[in-house]
Amino acid sequence: MGGIVVVSGLPGVGKSTVLNLAIEKLRKGGLSIKLVNYGTIMLDEAVKNNLVQHRDKIRKLKVAKQLELQRLAAKKISELAENVDLLIVDTHLFIVTPRGRWPGLSLNNLKNLDVKQIIVVEADPEEIAERRVNDNTRIREFEGLTSIKEDLSYNRYLAAALSIYTSSPAFFVSNHNNLADVAAEHIYNVLKKLVEEL
Ligand code: AMP
Ligand code: MG
Repeated sequence: MGGIVVVSGLPGVGKSTVLNLAIEKLRKGGLSIKLVNYGTIMLDEAVKNNLVQHRDKIRKLKVAKQLELQRLAAKKISELAENVDLLIVDTHLFIVTPRGRWPGLSLNNLKNLDVKQIIVVEADPEEIAERRVNDNTRIREFEGLTSIKEDLSYNRYLAAALSIYTSSPAFFVSNHNNLADVAAEHIYNVLKKLVEEL
């Protein structure tokens, strides 16, 4: 059973880019690493049930529906941890719903996920805003810098809560413009250490 690693960060922080670089390095070192995107698993389920057609519509569903999808996804994700060294879960510590910020990881799904490491990818508010504007594959509300700063803080509070709940360390890493390889190197080092300890 591989260790489950949660990698989180606000939309537009560049999680996927950094993660792919870190995973490539870990695999070159002979480790078997699986990467799963929580939203993709939820979307598959939501599409099957004819609830939404686009990943950015999931957060607009009734909270009770999102809870159900979230719970289902956790079960599927936990099965993926078999036969690998690490299962890396790309997800969010909170989702912006019409009723406010809602937790991506809570009692609803953590009971199925034995999290061993938390990684929070961050960037400057200006960098996040710019990356969001340049990503036209997504349907995003425009958010100003003040709001992004508040979200960055809230994300840290939730990382602290998650760290206590899972008894696992939370590692914070900055993904600044043109320095994704530096962020990836930090993540690589943390995950290598985790595998040694498992
Ligand atoms: P992403 O492509 O990573 O931004 O994820 C797309 C969508 O999936 C998010 O906007 C959420 O609606 C949903 N999602 C991702 N992770 C979670 C989670 N842990 N709990 C609930 N919803 C999630
Ligand atoms: Mg992503």
